[in-house]
Amino acid sequence: MKTLDQIAAELHCYDPQALSADDVLRFLAKLVFSVQDASDVPLFEALGRVLAADVISPFDVPPHDNSAMDGYAFDGQQLADTPVTLKVVGTAFAGKAWQGAVKTGECVKIMTGAIMPAGLDTVVPQEIVTVSGQNIIIAPKLLKPGDNRRHRGEDLMQGKPALLKGELLAPARLGLAASLGLKTVPCYRQLKVAYFSTGDEILSLGEPPREGAVYDSNRYTVFGLLSRMGCKVIDIGVVRDDPALLEAAFISAAQTADAIITSGGVSVGEADHTKAMMKKLGDVAFWRIAMRPGRPMAVGRIKKSASMPVLSSKLAASPINTGASSYENKSDEPSNPGGCILFGLPGNPVAVMVTFLAFVRPALLQMMGATVVTQPMLKACSQEAMRKKPGRTEYQRGWVSAAADGRLQVKTTGNQGSGVLSSMAQANGLIVLHHAQGNVAAGDAVDVLMFDGVI
Ligand code: AMP
Ligand code: MG
Repeated sequence: MKTLDQIAAELHCYDPQALSADDVLRFLAKLVFSVQDASDVPLFEALGRVLAADVISPFDVPPHDNSAMDGYAFDGQQLADTPVTLKVVGTAFAGKAWQGAVKTGECVKIMTGAIMPAGLDTVVPQEIVTVSGQNIIIAPKLLKPGDNRRHRGEDLMQGKPALLKGELLAPARLGLAASLGLKTVPCYRQLKVAYFSTGDEILSLGEPPREGAVYDSNRYTVFGLLSRMGCKVIDIGVVRDDPALLEAAFISAAQTADAIITSGGVSVGEADHTKAMMKKLGDVAFWRIAMRPGRPMAVGRIKKSASMPVLSSKLAASPINTGASSYENKSDEPSNPGGCILFGLPGNPVAVMVTFLAFVRPALLQMMGATVVTQPMLKACSQEAMRKKPGRTEYQRGWVSAAADGRLQVKTTGNQGSGVLSSMAQANGLIVLHHAQGNVAAGDAVDVLMFDGVI
């Protein structure tokens, strides 16, 4: 395990005061480790989990050649330039094999999914034949030999990997595992992520409004983002700007969680104790990232203390802490060597979501054991001009829609201030204006990170 300084030394031109978004991703990829514990998880509980081993197909899927259509199965050699007349000698239903023999000039009525009778390789759909008594007539040029037959093993081959270690179990992959007759799949354990908001001006829901105070929205956006990723969320609530409360919150979280996310208290000139406590309890770097929104961020490891009990009485007695009860599953230990990974996010609500999506999400996916940790971006045509300085990455909140010609277009959603959460709530994607990019003219193509399935 490398210290933060060792990781920094491996990065070209590391400058904590001016890190590019790419540098942040490179740094985090070296900082975090994947969980190792795995168990067999029933399919209904495996959605969103990460496979801990390849799943090898125990048999061919489908197990037999079968019909892709309702129609008539026959030997395709008989197709010709003139109409072909075939006598129907039986019916093959899905679910059981048809045992009879089929001679030249004969066919078998067949249902979708029924096993192809021996010697037959072609199915003519029932809609395109003419039925005449016991016979069917196939007009010329309607089909080729082999049409409408599904081949044994065309979906999955026996002994070959059907699903790969590190894949996220999305609905199609659950279905694929089920098609192999598997009741369970080997999954890494869920990641446990603790979250708390800092700041004396932050109110928990239920507290009466107070001048200068704002309700804690970050706790809910982070909860949603983590839940969508399939993490177990340890909600520690709002922690006041008091060294003892902050210390108790950090140490308790580090005992149980794989990662801690905080918001607030990391910007330059903060008069609070959050940064001091991060420094005291771990190996933490304080960055200024060349990005907008979300410039300040703290990253590192919080050491696990041997003596610390679950949430101290001091913290539990805090009037604005409401999340003390959600610690669970203490049996499986956090597995990152050197301590719990810390993501100290800025306080502004949009900055929290943007830094989470840009940096925390890929790092957590790596910790979950996933092999693909980034989302593909779409190209959309900007409906407006956007001012952009080269030398920093900007994330604008956007609404992507289809233009009249069917191409994708995107426009920003109102006020783009880093505290304006409505711009995020109205958006369906983030417009990513890359580090080196300059001004955007209306009509230019821009990259968009779609929220679908992520937010
Ligand atoms: P900070 O990074 O602590 O300087 O906070 C920046 C801004 O974000 C301030 O206006 C805070 O009031 C606001 N803020 C910080 N934490 C939260 C939170 N949990 N919910 C909503 N706003 C917050
Ligand atoms: Mg603050």
